[in-house]
Amino acid sequence: MRILLTNDDGIFAEGLHVLAREVRKVAEIHVVAPDHEQSATGHAITMHRPLRAESVKFLHSTDLPAWAVNGTPADCVKLAVESILPYRPDLVISGINRGANLGTDVLYSGTVSAAIEGVILGIPAIAVSLTEYYEPRFEYAAEFVARLASVLLKQGVSCDTLLNVNVPGCDREKVSGIVITKLGVRQYKNAFEKRSDPRGRSYYWLAGELVDAEHDEGSDVAAIKQSKISITPIQHDLTNYKLIDSLKGWNIEL
Ligand code: MN
Repeated sequence: MRILLTNDDGIFAEGLHVLAREVRKVAEIHVVAPDHEQSATGHAITMHRPLRAESVKFLHSTDLPAWAVNGTPADCVKLAVESILPYRPDLVISGINRGANLGTDVLYSGTVSAAIEGVILGIPAIAVSLTEYYEPRFEYAAEFVARLASVLLKQGVSCDTLLNVNVPGCDREKVSGIVITKLGVRQYKNAFEKRSDPRGRSYYWLAGELVDAEHDEGSDVAAIKQSKISITPIQHDLTNYKLIDSLKGWNIEL
Protein backbone atom coordinates (compact mmCIF):
# COMPACT_ATOMS: atom_id res chain seq x y z
CA MET A 1 0.00 0.00 0.00
CA ARG A 2 1.43 3.38 -1.05
CA ILE A 3 -0.09 6.49 0.42
CA LEU A 4 0.36 10.21 -0.26
CA LEU A 5 -0.09 12.33 2.87
CA THR A 6 -0.90 16.02 2.77
CA ASN A 7 -2.81 18.64 4.79
CA ASP A 8 -3.77 22.30 4.92
CA ASP A 9 -2.25 23.20 8.29
CA GLY A 10 1.24 23.05 6.79
CA ILE A 11 4.09 20.56 6.81
CA PHE A 12 5.11 21.43 10.38
CA ALA A 13 1.62 20.83 11.83
CA GLU A 14 1.40 18.22 14.55
CA GLY A 15 -1.68 16.54 13.03
CA LEU A 16 0.29 15.57 9.91
CA HIS A 17 3.22 14.26 11.97
CA VAL A 18 1.04 12.07 14.19
CA LEU A 19 -0.83 10.81 11.12
CA ALA A 20 2.44 9.95 9.34
CA ARG A 21 3.76 8.07 12.38
CA GLU A 22 0.69 5.79 12.36
CA VAL A 23 0.20 5.37 8.62
CA ARG A 24 3.84 4.46 7.96
CA LYS A 25 3.28 1.36 10.14
CA VAL A 26 0.87 0.00 7.51
CA ALA A 27 2.02 1.62 4.25
CA GLU A 28 4.84 3.18 2.30
CA ILE A 29 4.30 6.93 2.56
CA HIS A 30 5.27 10.13 0.78
CA VAL A 31 4.51 13.50 2.35
CA VAL A 32 3.85 16.54 0.15
CA ALA A 33 2.34 19.44 2.08
CA PRO A 34 2.14 23.26 2.05
CA ASP A 35 5.17 25.06 3.50
CA HIS A 36 2.86 27.12 5.74
CA GLU A 37 -0.75 27.03 6.88
CA GLN A 38 -3.30 27.09 4.06
CA SER A 39 -6.52 26.56 6.01
CA ALA A 40 -9.70 27.79 4.31
CA THR A 41 -8.06 28.13 0.90
CA GLY A 42 -10.66 25.79 -0.58
CA HIS A 43 -9.75 24.29 -3.93
CA ALA A 44 -7.51 27.15 -5.08
CA ILE A 45 -4.54 26.33 -7.31
CA THR A 46 -1.50 28.45 -8.17
CA MET A 47 -1.20 29.69 -11.75
CA HIS A 48 0.56 33.04 -11.70
CA ARG A 49 3.81 32.24 -9.94
CA PRO A 50 6.15 29.26 -9.92
CA LEU A 51 5.73 26.42 -7.48
CA ARG A 52 8.74 25.11 -5.62
CA ALA A 53 9.01 21.83 -3.75
CA GLU A 54 11.77 21.67 -1.14
CA SER A 55 12.81 18.27 0.14
CA VAL A 56 12.54 18.34 3.96
CA LYS A 57 13.51 16.07 6.83
CA PHE A 58 10.32 14.66 8.33
CA LEU A 59 9.81 12.80 11.64
CA HIS A 60 13.59 13.05 12.18
CA SER A 61 13.93 10.40 9.50
CA THR A 62 16.42 10.49 6.63
CA ASP A 63 14.57 7.87 4.60
CA LEU A 64 11.07 9.32 4.69
CA PRO A 65 10.46 11.25 1.47
CA ALA A 66 8.82 14.61 2.24
CA TRP A 67 8.43 17.91 0.39
CA ALA A 68 7.27 21.36 1.42
CA VAL A 69 5.48 23.20 -1.38
CA ASN A 70 4.85 26.97 -1.56
CA GLY A 71 1.28 26.37 -2.72
CA THR A 72 -2.17 25.26 -1.70
CA PRO A 73 -3.30 21.78 -0.62
CA ALA A 74 -4.75 21.15 -4.10
CA ASP A 75 -1.39 22.22 -5.63
CA CYS A 76 0.40 19.72 -3.39
CA VAL A 77 -1.68 16.75 -4.53
CA LYS A 78 -1.54 17.72 -8.23
CA LEU A 79 2.21 18.32 -8.11
CA ALA A 80 2.90 15.18 -6.08
CA VAL A 81 0.95 12.87 -8.38
CA GLU A 82 1.97 14.45 -11.68
CA SER A 83 5.61 15.34 -10.98
CA ILE A 84 7.15 14.42 -7.63
CA LEU A 85 6.12 10.88 -6.71
CA PRO A 86 7.94 8.00 -8.42
CA TYR A 87 4.67 6.04 -8.46
CA ARG A 88 0.93 6.57 -8.49
CA PRO A 89 -0.31 6.34 -4.88
CA ASP A 90 -3.09 3.91 -3.96
CA LEU A 91 -4.61 6.47 -1.63
CA VAL A 92 -4.41 10.14 -0.64
CA ILE A 93 -4.96 11.06 3.02
CA SER A 94 -5.33 14.72 3.94
CA GLY A 95 -5.08 15.80 7.57
CA ILE A 96 -5.29 15.46 10.42
CA ASN A 97 -6.85 18.89 10.41
CA ARG A 98 -6.89 20.87 13.63
CA GLY A 99 -10.62 21.63 13.89
CA ALA A 100 -13.78 20.13 12.38
CA ASN A 101 -14.75 20.08 8.72
CA LEU A 102 -18.50 19.54 8.89
CA GLY A 103 -21.40 20.46 6.60
CA THR A 104 -20.74 23.51 4.45
CA ASP A 105 -17.21 23.81 5.94
CA VAL A 106 -16.11 21.28 3.33
CA LEU A 107 -16.52 23.89 0.58
CA TYR A 108 -13.96 26.20 2.23
CA SER A 109 -11.69 23.51 3.58
CA GLY A 110 -8.20 23.02 2.16
CA THR A 111 -8.09 19.64 3.91
CA VAL A 112 -11.14 18.37 2.03
CA SER A 113 -10.05 20.01 -1.24
CA ALA A 114 -6.74 18.13 -1.18
CA ALA A 115 -8.72 14.88 -0.93
CA ILE A 116 -11.05 16.02 -3.73
CA GLU A 117 -7.99 16.66 -5.89
CA GLY A 118 -6.94 13.06 -5.33
CA VAL A 119 -10.37 11.87 -6.48
CA ILE A 120 -10.24 14.16 -9.54
CA LEU A 121 -6.96 12.43 -10.44
CA GLY A 122 -8.69 9.05 -10.04
CA ILE A 123 -7.14 8.14 -6.68
CA PRO A 124 -9.28 7.21 -3.64
CA ALA A 125 -8.96 9.72 -0.83
CA ILE A 126 -9.73 10.38 2.81
CA ALA A 127 -9.94 13.79 4.50
CA VAL A 128 -9.64 13.62 8.28
CA SER A 129 -10.27 16.29 10.89
CA LEU A 130 -10.21 16.36 14.68
CA THR A 131 -13.01 18.49 16.07
CA GLU A 132 -10.89 19.91 18.94
CA TYR A 133 -8.99 23.06 17.96
CA TYR A 134 -7.49 24.38 21.22
CA GLU A 135 -6.06 21.24 22.83
CA PRO A 136 -5.93 18.69 20.04
CA ARG A 137 -4.72 15.17 20.74
CA PHE A 138 -4.34 13.46 17.39
CA GLU A 139 -3.21 9.94 18.37
CA TYR A 140 -6.56 8.16 18.38
CA ALA A 141 -7.71 9.81 15.12
CA ALA A 142 -4.42 8.75 13.47
CA GLU A 143 -4.80 5.13 14.58
CA PHE A 144 -8.40 5.12 13.38
CA VAL A 145 -7.54 6.49 9.94
CA ALA A 146 -4.71 4.01 9.48
CA ARG A 147 -7.26 1.23 10.08
CA LEU A 148 -9.85 2.87 7.83
CA ALA A 149 -7.29 3.18 5.02
CA SER A 150 -6.74 -0.58 5.02
CA VAL A 151 -10.50 -1.26 5.01
CA LEU A 152 -11.13 1.23 2.20
CA LEU A 153 -8.48 -0.29 -0.04
CA LYS A 154 -9.83 -3.78 0.61
CA GLN A 155 -13.47 -2.83 0.01
CA GLY A 156 -12.84 -0.39 -2.82
CA VAL A 157 -14.84 2.80 -3.20
CA SER A 158 -16.43 4.44 -6.21
CA CYS A 159 -13.68 6.45 -7.89
CA ASP A 160 -15.68 9.70 -7.82
CA THR A 161 -16.03 9.67 -4.04
CA LEU A 162 -13.88 10.60 -1.07
CA LEU A 163 -14.50 9.93 2.60
CA ASN A 164 -14.72 12.96 4.86
CA VAL A 165 -13.92 11.80 8.38
CA ASN A 166 -14.43 13.86 11.53
CA VAL A 167 -13.19 12.44 14.82
CA PRO A 168 -14.54 13.91 18.08
CA GLY A 169 -11.87 15.60 20.16
CA CYS A 170 -12.80 13.75 23.37
CA ASP A 171 -10.88 10.92 25.05
CA ARG A 172 -11.01 7.71 23.06
CA GLU A 173 -12.99 5.94 25.84
CA LYS A 174 -15.74 8.52 25.28
CA VAL A 175 -15.99 8.00 21.52
CA SER A 176 -19.41 6.34 21.35
CA GLY A 177 -19.46 4.87 17.84
CA ILE A 178 -18.96 5.32 14.11
CA VAL A 179 -21.76 6.66 11.87
CA ILE A 180 -22.02 6.99 8.12
CA THR A 181 -23.49 10.44 7.64
CA LYS A 182 -24.65 13.12 5.22
CA LEU A 183 -23.34 16.68 5.26
CA GLY A 184 -25.24 18.80 7.79
CA VAL A 185 -25.72 22.54 8.01
CA ARG A 186 -23.27 24.79 9.81
CA GLN A 187 -23.95 28.47 10.21
CA TYR A 188 -21.99 31.28 11.83
CA LYS A 189 -23.37 34.52 13.26
CA ASN A 190 -21.67 37.92 13.61
CA ALA A 191 -19.28 36.71 10.96
CA PHE A 192 -17.36 39.99 10.58
CA GLU A 193 -15.94 42.26 13.25
CA LYS A 194 -15.52 45.86 12.20
CA ARG A 195 -12.55 47.67 13.75
CA SER A 196 -10.40 50.72 13.17
CA ASP A 197 -6.75 50.62 12.15
CA PRO A 198 -4.14 53.03 13.69
CA ARG A 199 -4.83 55.53 10.89
CA GLY A 200 -8.55 55.60 11.61
CA ARG A 201 -9.65 53.56 8.63
CA SER A 202 -12.01 50.68 9.20
CA TYR A 203 -11.25 47.08 8.45
CA TYR A 204 -13.15 43.81 8.81
CA TRP A 205 -11.95 40.58 10.35
CA LEU A 206 -13.78 37.32 9.81
CA ALA A 207 -14.63 35.69 13.15
CA GLY A 208 -18.12 34.83 14.32
CA GLU A 209 -19.48 32.07 16.43
CA LEU A 210 -21.17 28.86 15.46
CA VAL A 211 -24.96 28.79 15.56
CA ASP A 212 -26.37 25.49 16.70
CA ALA A 213 -28.34 24.39 13.67
CA GLU A 214 -31.49 22.37 14.13
CA HIS A 215 -30.87 18.80 15.07
CA ASP A 216 -30.44 17.21 11.65
CA GLU A 217 -30.67 13.46 12.19
CA GLY A 218 -28.15 11.50 10.17
CA SER A 219 -25.85 14.46 9.62
CA ASP A 220 -22.15 14.78 10.38
CA VAL A 221 -22.95 17.64 12.78
CA ALA A 222 -25.33 15.39 14.77
CA ALA A 223 -22.79 12.56 14.90
CA ILE A 224 -20.10 14.80 16.40
CA LYS A 225 -22.59 16.17 18.96
CA GLN A 226 -23.09 12.57 20.07
CA SER A 227 -19.29 12.02 20.31
CA LYS A 228 -19.34 9.65 17.34
CA ILE A 229 -16.87 9.42 14.48
CA SER A 230 -18.57 10.72 11.33
CA ILE A 231 -17.75 9.32 7.88
CA THR A 232 -19.42 11.14 4.97
CA PRO A 233 -19.01 9.98 1.36
CA ILE A 234 -18.57 13.15 -0.75
CA GLN A 235 -18.65 13.70 -4.52
CA HIS A 236 -17.34 16.71 -6.37
CA ASP A 237 -19.99 16.62 -9.12
CA LEU A 238 -22.14 19.61 -8.12
CA THR A 239 -24.79 19.02 -10.81
CA ASN A 240 -28.35 19.12 -9.50
CA TYR A 241 -29.65 16.17 -11.55
CA LYS A 242 -33.20 16.55 -10.22
CA LEU A 243 -33.48 19.95 -11.89
CA ILE A 244 -32.18 19.07 -15.36
CA ASP A 245 -35.54 18.00 -16.82
CA SER A 246 -37.43 20.86 -15.25
CA LEU A 247 -34.92 23.43 -16.63
CA LYS A 248 -35.27 21.89 -20.10
CA GLY A 249 -38.93 22.88 -19.93
CA TRP A 250 -38.19 26.58 -19.33
CA ASN A 251 -38.19 27.53 -23.03
CA ILE A 252 -35.31 29.98 -22.72
CA GLU A 253 -34.91 31.90 -26.00
CA LEU A 254 -31.62 32.47 -27.80
MN1 MN B 1 -6.63 23.53 8.61
